[in-house]
Amino acid sequence: MKLYCIGIGPGGEEQMTQRAVRALEQCDCVAGYGLYLTLIDGLLRGKERIQTGMTREVDRCLAARDAALSGKTVAVVSSGDAGVYGMAGLLLEVCAPYPELEVEVIPGVTAACAGGAVLGAPLTCDFACVSLSDLLTPWEVIEKRLRGAAMGDFCIALYNPASKKRTDHLRRACDILLELLPSETVCGTVRCIGREGESYSLTTLGALRETAVDMLTTVFVGNSRTQVIGGRMVTPRGYRGV
Ligand code: SAH
Repeated sequence: MKLYCIGIGPGGEEQMTQRAVRALEQCDCVAGYGLYLTLIDGLLRGKERIQTGMTREVDRCLAARDAALSGKTVAVVSSGDAGVYGMAGLLLEVCAPYPELEVEVIPGVTAACAGGAVLGAPLTCDFACVSLSDLLTPWEVIEKRLRGAAMGDFCIALYNPASKKRTDHLRRACDILLELLPSETVCGTVRCIGREGESYSLTTLGALRETAVDMLTTVFVGNSRTQVIGGRMVTPRGYRGV
């Protein structure tokens, strides 16, 4: 009995790894949030779908597990990497009582890597990812992690910078970072990475505070060495002695 947990990368089919495509080919049934299934529609012909809304993760995992226990080969798909703010952990938890079920986690290109490539090369040194969603993490913990990342001079990739209900989280995060970092710190935003309408912009931490973002955006905050070089966001590693 086999259940795959597949990270499909940030966009459509061309953003997937070959390993992910091959695993999907093996499956009779695919579970995922509707948007992700639409992105890989071309690979799902003839397959059963388990489709639920964004916040029905537990239901989706249980339905996928039960389909696999009934003898089908099943995939749960997540955008980016399934282990980065994705469903891999939850799936392993709900499958743990069923040792007859083999769960294989297949990695995907996460938004930090895909968005970093759009901007240039912001994450060449140590970096931290912080999600600004306080649905599952208390805001005080998010604040602590932001301060820690800023104190450590990490480049930071901010996931979930806003949602329909949470419109001020990026501004609040910037205010915390601005306690420790200069307002000229180089920043970038990338929207709809690898999807139709992909766009990006370069800015500074001071201006980022006033920037409108949505849940389809990943935000990048540079470290003390990050620069704009040839119109791209680059954190030099020091190869050239600078
Ligand atoms: N598992 C995903 C992350 C899910 S959390 C991954 O590894 O990429 C959802 C957040 O990820 C979004 O709010 C956004 O900040 C970021 N994200 C995911 N896909 C994106 C895309 N195609 N373009 C821009 N940001 C994206």
